[in-house]
Amino acid sequence: MAVKVAVTGFGGRMGRALAQALVQSEAAELSAAIVRPDSSLVGADAGEVAGLGNLGLPIVGSLEKAEFDVLIDFSAPAATLANASFCAERDKPIVIGTTGFDGEEKERLLKEADRIPLCLASNFSTGVNLCFQLLQMAARVMGEDADIELVEAHHRHKVDAPSGTALSMGEVIADTLGRDLSKVAVYGREGQTGARERDTIGFATVRGGDVVGDHTVMFLADGERVEISHRASSRLSFARGAVRAALWLVGEGGEVGEKPAPGHYDMRDVLGL
Ligand code: NAD
Repeated sequence: MAVKVAVTGFGGRMGRALAQALVQSEAAELSAAIVRPDSSLVGADAGEVAGLGNLGLPIVGSLEKAEFDVLIDFSAPAATLANASFCAERDKPIVIGTTGFDGEEKERLLKEADRIPLCLASNFSTGVNLCFQLLQMAARVMGEDADIELVEAHHRHKVDAPSGTALSMGEVIADTLGRDLSKVAVYGREGQTGARERDTIGFATVRGGDVVGDHTVMFLADGERVEISHRASSRLSFARGAVRAALWLVGEGGEVGEKPAPGHYDMRDVLGL
């Protein structure tokens, strides 16, 4: 029997991509599509809204009405916090793709992982998670001698900046070098004059058009440079990864019958990296 997956934030760009990934999956099925209660999409067919034809699944305005084994949430921080505590109270695992949490929100969110398996990743694509490993290697080999700069580009509607993925990349590099990202990150250089400070990690943000998500990290040394780049051309790359994580959380993705204990996981755990 297919694993029942509910999707919150269904009306958004990722909600629709998740519907597509779930329709294509043999192991998982979309069992509930949830939007905010005041949304005009309540009652519409989930498949019609996602451009997949009629699925016979009406969109609902509350998680209370959903039947599911695991929830996938790509919405906004306030909604995600409420959805995570709903899952924790009902002993259901949750996959979270939402980005843009502040420190206190993230702490509250991760508290729910004491009660349920919770997989939180700023990027669910396989390629980006491979890049995290490559960045660790590059930071180990070149990090002490090179200036490190990160450039990311996203579509004009994205609300947080730098992207959650860019911050995760910065964290991987900072951890590898034994630095504290909150002390060494430089977000843009307005108002700064003079030479670049050593040991900082620079972040530059580009917003416009329909860019799904580009990230490039440059290790700029004297006489040579290395660039590690990832370009997402479709949201399906994130959606397929999130479905894989959902299956893993209910014990269907890894070793047979191996259901993870309550705790905080990320996509690298799912991929076994
Ligand atoms: P979007 O704006 O298209 O969709 C967000 C949806 O959440 C909307 O339908 C909105 O109505 C709903 N929502 C917002 N606040 C809500 C609330 N309080 N209650 C109920 N519903 C609410 O955004 P998107 O492009 O689909 O991205 C969603 C999130 O996922 C963002 O945080 C984005 O950065 C993140 N994202 C993560 C990954 C990843 O791989 N982790 C990939 C892409 C996007």
